[in-house]
Amino acid sequence: MTIDYNLLRVSIDLRAIQENYRLLCSKGTRLIPVVKADAYGHGLVDVARALASCGADFFAVGTVEEASNLRLAVPGTVLALLGPQLREDFQAVAEQDILPLVARMDQLWLLQEQAVSKNVRLPVALKFDTGMARLGFAPSETSPVMEALQRCDRLDPQWLISHLATADDPDQAVFVREQAGRFEHILAEFHRAGFALRASLLNSAGILAYPDLGWDGQRPGIALYGVNPFGDTARESLGRGLQPAMQVRAPVVAVHPLAKGASISYGRTYTAKQDGIVAIVAAGYADNYSRGLSNKGLMLVRGKRAPILGRVCMQMTAVDVSAVPGVAPGDQAFLLGGEGTSAIRPEELAAWWGTLPYEAFCLLGMNRKDFQGR
Ligand SMILES: *Cc1c(COP(=O)(O)O)cnc(C)c1O
Repeated sequence: MTIDYNLLRVSIDLRAIQENYRLLCSKGTRLIPVVKADAYGHGLVDVARALASCGADFFAVGTVEEASNLRLAVPGTVLALLGPQLREDFQAVAEQDILPLVARMDQLWLLQEQAVSKNVRLPVALKFDTGMARLGFAPSETSPVMEALQRCDRLDPQWLISHLATADDPDQAVFVREQAGRFEHILAEFHRAGFALRASLLNSAGILAYPDLGWDGQRPGIALYGVNPFGDTARESLGRGLQPAMQVRAPVVAVHPLAKGASISYGRTYTAKQDGIVAIVAAGYADNYSRGLSNKGLMLVRGKRAPILGRVCMQMTAVDVSAVPGVAPGDQAFLLGGEGTSAIRPEELAAWWGTLPYEAFCLLGMNRKDFQGR
């Protein structure tokens, strides 16, 4: 049983995600929407279905379990970017038409074993590390991987994948080119040896900034959810037109005056400089609204920005509504999004929070009423 202990409401505008997808389609040749981590908190199945209805037929999730959950919901290919890790993952891959990303030799052997025992042929995607130093075979393992694949006669290598570390940083284009050079070299070796691999290197920022590195598939994540990876950089125009899709709101549960000189919330970290009015909003760090936003963040109340006063509590946060007429209990305060030109953008929330929109989305998305995780 789960108890609904919070009053936050997360709403997702699937049409915005569809429009972002169409915008990205005009820049990429074949998009592989990244819907890992519950579609960055936006809802795995709903987002994937919305994109499938726009023509998407290849999706990337994280775990094999996520892939299983998505498998029945959409047609096409489902790639598990974390690859098979648990014993049951290997079985699921073999039984459920999931494309596994393979980054270690032992995964090749175990997949081959599954394929033999089920008497099937299994497609695989190969991950090589070209500079992220996270997951993937080293470039120097290219020959050993090819030899292993020759022995794994039931495996069908289809894709070569790598991931860029600095595509969103205009000052680090040189490193993108280094990674791309290594990638191209690995791909050429496979092609020379007769492996007809297709190739995919680009994430959102890469799609927008390096269209010449598109190869056969591009993997947009954050841009689908309406964040411009180049926001506030000299290359901002690359991501113009993307629209955020997530809104998060919570009700005002009390409104009261705060007199000049009075303090508010734990630790008395804020003292009123003049007479004012505060609204108490039913959202706090138990809802993944970070305590790091204390005295830093803003919410949107009745179309106006209201600064957070004092510490964010477990289920409540105080905001200054002195300049917002008529606020009353039951009003909605937007933690993210909201109406009009003052709507709180994911980039702003993330900056106050000291993080990125990626993390803010994942954490706040866990408040979705249909969130399936944990
Ligand atoms: C998350 C992820 C992406 C998407 O990255 P964005 O920056 O969100 O576009 C692409 N490829 C891999 C391997 C990833 O893990």
